[in-house]
Amino acid sequence: MQVTRELFNDVMVPNYNPAAMIPVRGVGSKIWDQDDKEYIDFAGGIAVNVLGHCHPELVNVLKEQGEKLWHLSNVYTNEPALRLAKKLTDATFADMVYFANSGAEVNEAALKLARRWALDHYGPEKDQIIAFNQGFHGRTFFTVTVGGQAAYSDGFGPKPGAITHTAYNDLAALEAIISDKTCAIMMEPLQGEGGIIVPDPEFVKGVRALCDKHNALLIFDEVQSGVGRTGDLFAYMGLDVVPDILTSAKSLGGGIPIGAMLTTKAIGSHLKVGTHGSTYGGNPLACAIAEKALDIINDPTILAGVKAKEALFREHLTRINDKYQVFSEVRGKGMLLGCAMNEKYQGRARDFMVAATEKGTMCLIAGINVVRFAPSLVIPDEDIIEGLRRFEEGIAHVLAQDALAAETA
Ligand SMILES: *Cc1c(COP(=O)(O)O)cnc(C)c1O
Repeated sequence: MQVTRELFNDVMVPNYNPAAMIPVRGVGSKIWDQDDKEYIDFAGGIAVNVLGHCHPELVNVLKEQGEKLWHLSNVYTNEPALRLAKKLTDATFADMVYFANSGAEVNEAALKLARRWALDHYGPEKDQIIAFNQGFHGRTFFTVTVGGQAAYSDGFGPKPGAITHTAYNDLAALEAIISDKTCAIMMEPLQGEGGIIVPDPEFVKGVRALCDKHNALLIFDEVQSGVGRTGDLFAYMGLDVVPDILTSAKSLGGGIPIGAMLTTKAIGSHLKVGTHGSTYGGNPLACAIAEKALDIINDPTILAGVKAKEALFREHLTRINDKYQVFSEVRGKGMLLGCAMNEKYQGRARDFMVAATEKGTMCLIAGINVVRFAPSLVIPDEDIIEGLRRFEEGIAHVLAQDALAAETA
């Protein structure tokens, strides 16, 4: 059956507005569409394809495990899940892991765990969740309400309660609202969807101290920042602040859906038998692939490579911006970078993304003012250079169109 982008509008609910072309295959950091046109992939499936497309070692595990065992349910445990949990706890502050299939699901688990922990220790009064403006934590009703954009949770009926928002990077504002009724603070240690906002290190340390003072749990949502993305295995390691609960997804599976909530034994033990669960969570197929991805990424050479590739991106983006004057700054960390639009190009990030795609570079936006790059951590340097050359062509195209429009106006 021949299918086209037009069919999308007929058979899919309109909650997405996908690009005009349809990708059909990928290798490493390159993708080809239905017309066999090539693209350099700086989008990485939204910070997911951490080792590019069809990495041979992941494909091997997919085939091997695919011929062994896919799914059991949590009535049984399985070897890949146990190995992955052991490796995640060995590599981090955590002692225990809960697996699900997405970022939203592990955030949902983290929030439910925090509420249950507070109830068990302090009673029902301690239920306040504090989160940050522009934060993003997923689309289940609880997580989207904890997220910092009310527009995403409006219009679906009564919202989950006892959730308060405050400004990111503003410790005084947080100090004014936190109290002994606060059960947890949920934050991204680098805001992704909100616009690639890097936290002030002193702010993060201050959040930790306020949590300690008020016996509140600190939940780091590392769904986007984790698994090597920033050049540290998890972003918290580069901030010198240890959370009580950490959530990971996106890069964790290298493209296969999986999420993990990590925590200490003292906290995790409150999710007693029957309190929470997932049918697919921790299935052997996803866990086997995530285990291999983690084996590859948790390596000093790969992580150092992320920092080197960031420098290469920054060098070329600075050169491009010196020429075209489009960004106010390039920000972010590792392979999670954002180009913020300057005054003249406010609200135009999508125009540059669309133009780049047309020229053969896939990238993302984060809000209406930031072009975002979240490529594979092992993207070859020559693909970075070629991808940015095409991105530059896209910028030149947008500026030429603007000039034309100004002339005819
Ligand atoms: C993408 C994202 C989520 C949601 O993950 P899903 O897998 O889409 O449910 C949650 N938190 C952060 C920080 C994210 O970037």
